[in-house]
Amino acid sequence: MAIKIERKIVKYAVQKPEDKAAAKAAAEDKTPEVKPMAPAGESEEVRDKSGRTAKVIRMHEKLERPEMLIGQTYKIKTPISDHAMYVTINDILLNEGTEYEQRRPFEIFINSKNLDHYQWIVALTRIISAVFRKGGDVTFLVDELKAVFDPRGGYWQPGGKFMPSIIAELGHVIEKHLQAIGLMRKSQLDSHQQKLVDEKRAEFEARTKQTDAFAKTHFPEGAQLCARCSTAAVVMMDGCMTCLNCGDSKCG
Ligand SMILES: [Zn+2]
Repeated sequence: MAIKIERKIVKYAVQKPEDKAAAKAAAEDKTPEVKPMAPAGESEEVRDKSGRTAKVIRMHEKLERPEMLIGQTYKIKTPISDHAMYVTINDILLNEGTEYEQRRPFEIFINSKNLDHYQWIVALTRIISAVFRKGGDVTFLVDELKAVFDPRGGYWQPGGKFMPSIIAELGHVIEKHLQAIGLMRKSQLDSHQQKLVDEKRAEFEARTKQTDAFAKTHFPEGAQLCARCSTAAVVMMDGCMTCLNCGDSKCG
């Protein structure tokens, strides 16, 4: 190949074999960057506080499942079945190491020796996992599941909480998990309400000194079911039906 030199030669250098190798290596470095995930629409350019743009990956259906996921297993033991149920929820960590880092539920598994429930467990876990992977707000699942009533009647959990069905208990487990990973807020009493409830409880317990050594619940015996928090913790205090769990009070 001939090169026509149009200007005066002012400087020259002899090309050595090492230079050729270095040039080749530099060219290889410039091969297009491979993005590991997320074609257009599934990630978003976000400008951070210092004005730089960052690519933030959002939850979407085509997000590939990583080899390893972090997760938690919850045990559900109900009085209506001899066998416990084990609920595993695995999470995916998006945008790890950035300020947009977010832990989101990715899949759910339910294990039980009790095969009576096999069909609906398979259906439910597939649907819940699909909802998790769709992305967006998944917290509605909690309310939907918690609202399911078993026509044969629910059961009491140790601690005096009423569960209308096993599905509702599953809703409580998912709620607990979403609270643990920061996708849902814990519904807590503020310090003033908590103080009031504690005072009322101490007062009530002082008044009814008779104690039952075998009582499992930490709420007073004979307490009624609270319509607000489904816990048997409503007692009569100064003419008011007051819940010692959530502080709900009805005067009359
Ligand atoms: Zn209550």
